[in-house]
Amino acid sequence: MKAHRSIVRSLFAVLAATLLCPATGEAQEIPSPEEFFGHEMGADRQLARWDRLVEYYDTLGVLSDRLIVEHVGETTLGNPFLVIYVSSPENLGKLEEIRRMNAILSDPRGHTQRQIDDAIENSKVVFVQSYALHSTEVAASQTAAEVVYLFATRTDAGMEEILDETVSILIPAFNPDGNIIVTDWYNRWLGTEFEGSGPPELYHHYIGHDNNRDAFMQNTVESQYGAAIIFRDFVPQAYIDHHQMGPYTARIYLPPYAEPIRPEADPLVWREMAWYGAHMAYKMDEADLQGAIGSAIYSGWGHFGFHWITPFHNIAGMLTESASARLATPLYVHPDQLRGSRQFPEYEAQTTFPNPWLGGWWRVRDIVERQIIATFSPLELAAKNRETVLRNAYNKASRQTQRGLDGDVKAYVIPAEQHDPLTMQKMVNKLLGQGITVDRATRGFEHEGRVYGRGSYVVSMAQPKRGLIRWLLGQTYYPDNSYTRDRDDNPIRPYDMSTDNLAEFMGVRADPVGSAVVAAMTRVTSEIDPSGTVSLGTHGYVLDGRLNDSFEAANRLLASGASLSRVSSDGGGVRRGDFVVGPDADPAAVRDIAEETGVDFIALNSDASGVTYPLAPQRIGMYQRYYGGNIDEGWTRWLLEDFSFEYTSIMDDEIQRGDLHERWDVIVLPADSKRMMTEGGGGFGGGASTVPPEYRSGFGQEGLDALDEFVENGGTLVMFAQAGDLALDEMDVPVRNVLDGLSSSEFWAPGSTLKMKVDNTHPLAYGMPRNALATFLAGGQVYQTVPGARSADVRRVATYLDRDILESGWLLGEEVIANRAAIVSIDKGEGSVFMLGFRVQHRAQTHGTYKFLFNALVTQPPKMMR
Ligand SMILES: [Zn+2]
Repeated sequence: MKAHRSIVRSLFAVLAATLLCPATGEAQEIPSPEEFFGHEMGADRQLARWDRLVEYYDTLGVLSDRLIVEHVGETTLGNPFLVIYVSSPENLGKLEEIRRMNAILSDPRGHTQRQIDDAIENSKVVFVQSYALHSTEVAASQTAAEVVYLFATRTDAGMEEILDETVSILIPAFNPDGNIIVTDWYNRWLGTEFEGSGPPELYHHYIGHDNNRDAFMQNTVESQYGAAIIFRDFVPQAYIDHHQMGPYTARIYLPPYAEPIRPEADPLVWREMAWYGAHMAYKMDEADLQGAIGSAIYSGWGHFGFHWITPFHNIAGMLTESASARLATPLYVHPDQLRGSRQFPEYEAQTTFPNPWLGGWWRVRDIVERQIIATFSPLELAAKNRETVLRNAYNKASRQTQRGLDGDVKAYVIPAEQHDPLTMQKMVNKLLGQGITVDRATRGFEHEGRVYGRGSYVVSMAQPKRGLIRWLLGQTYYPDNSYTRDRDDNPIRPYDMSTDNLAEFMGVRADPVGSAVVAAMTRVTSEIDPSGTVSLGTHGYVLDGRLNDSFEAANRLLASGASLSRVSSDGGGVRRGDFVVGPDADPAAVRDIAEETGVDFIALNSDASGVTYPLAPQRIGMYQRYYGGNIDEGWTRWLLEDFSFEYTSIMDDEIQRGDLHERWDVIVLPADSKRMMTEGGGGFGGGASTVPPEYRSGFGQEGLDALDEFVENGGTLVMFAQAGDLALDEMDVPVRNVLDGLSSSEFWAPGSTLKMKVDNTHPLAYGMPRNALATFLAGGQVYQTVPGARSADVRRVATYLDRDILESGWLLGEEVIANRAAIVSIDKGEGSVFMLGFRVQHRAQTHGTYKFLFNALVTQPPKMMR
């Protein structure tokens, strides 16, 4: 909500300034990209860097009265994040009025028919387009500069109509940091044998390519800027995100999506995508640009990134995907290399692909030309049909609201009574971030036989975003039918997860109810920002070990030098997993930490020393590799920083040095294949030989030996999902992965939530509820102890149920994992191996299982206390 306020306020500050000093478009000529950058956009081996692009946009912002260039804030690495508003000078002068009218159409609740008719008659179509979210897809950051230039200078009747009837909001680079990382890398190797190789690191500092998976939770600042515009401030009528795909299929994918689609959006959004997409393709062939395809390759059930979540905001949320070159280097595509894809079985002419490209040299300029047409053609259509588009914005919103009123589920109630109430409040904030209406009960109430306390939240389905609420809070079954099976009946992998249930990921209870809730409620109008209470007892304070945020409080207390201990069994006013803070902790630090984390510091008035063990800061090593980086590693860093865990990133040389126990207490191996960790290779565009030698990684046998010795000498080794192969194959642990060697028809759980029992007497599960959900992805592991002398060293920390294991998503072969371990801890020598068979911290979304990681990173109890 902070981002929300700042964007609106700063935009109207810019507007006021614009009105005070009218633009001087007549006086000075607007430079073309070629004049400004010294080359055409998309020219071979040329990439404009973000700092120069910003200068260009700022220059055009001053010279053209059709543009407002806004610096909305800083990116993750401190670069400017830009949003550009484009329309006629008259429309730009009344942007707030247009925003207000569009808000009526996207949420007509409480407005009169007259206000609605007035908005349809007088407002403008709002269209958001974003470029360069994925930074190795280099064309779009260049296209955007030419697009802005054309907006500023074209004087034809078509452009006049677009400017008069529409407002475009452009995000010229959704990840500016990545443009800089990739441009500098590209230029460094230009003219060498490594020209066109991919950068060694993640092109978003934390989350790389997964920045398109974050619209859903808005963990990064870039996602927050985008969400403020698309979900709350402007809720546009359409949104297009311009990407690139692999080089060997169609030249450009255009809307609509292929099957299957995710149901529950208003049907008009799918019709609008087909309508805009058909016009884009029509204009593509009018210009004789070959190779455009629609209704193929990208299915309509994707992840909840911006272009796939927007249909559930009643926005025509679209994607374009152009074939890639080798960064900015031309690529020769031999006709033999061209092939089909999903719902595009043969690379030959068909109704959605009447004009095949026949191969040859492929250049960034080819992409730029297609992206320019894909940008302007839907605007032409919207401009000619302004009233229809606006009326249908109203239709979509009002019909979805009516469906919510009539549907079987009338609301979701989020009880105040939760295992981790602070995480529940974070979930409510994420719903608010989507622009969903949420009410809070000001008194306790009873509904459908259940009692809910004061402070429970109610999310009514009778609102325009009901489709979104259904997927974020409702149980989800991915379709299993002929669209999701191949000819041999093998399941086809969903584009991403098979569920995106926020409540399940976060471990929060949300009850669907079949009748409207009648209770004393107030609307929640700003982000919840809880503040913890402080009450000092004779023996200090207790922090509730069930709260994720207690770990942040503990980390900050340890860093401040406070004495801290952890409870290993219930009794005497404390509970296993709680943190005990000594009475001498600095009161000012305690007050600050309580206020900022929301954790209550509860008075401890009895001596708990018989059931506690001391905590000390741990030396945590996070393993990192090259070859484009490892997204799971980046997300883990993001999460550790969010909860104030101190860590150090370590690479091969550090592991290979040996004597690791002298420098580290815990080493974390994020989800990754054994081959990538030990041998490296692969990466963008071929094997290790395509990568400059100093950026080849893999710690080899030397590293494996060092990690084994680390554990024998008392270290804690933590492995997520497929990283467990390192222990299974190389460390002689007495467990096996029951999924090893199974085909997709024998076991299949592509991004599903699975039910497990948790042994919360084990230190790795302290503070967890007895029942929890694992978020299981491809590459996950499930463990069975191997009979033998060392089986006593294995403890099952979490175990899948014996039947009815699926909560949401898709699961085939549940008998394979029934009653098998999701997480095991293995004693080995003086140390421990923690094998977390699924990503407990997946994309910083699975708050419900963070504690398995956090517990692994704090001091372990002495073995006699376990
Ligand atoms: Zn992409």
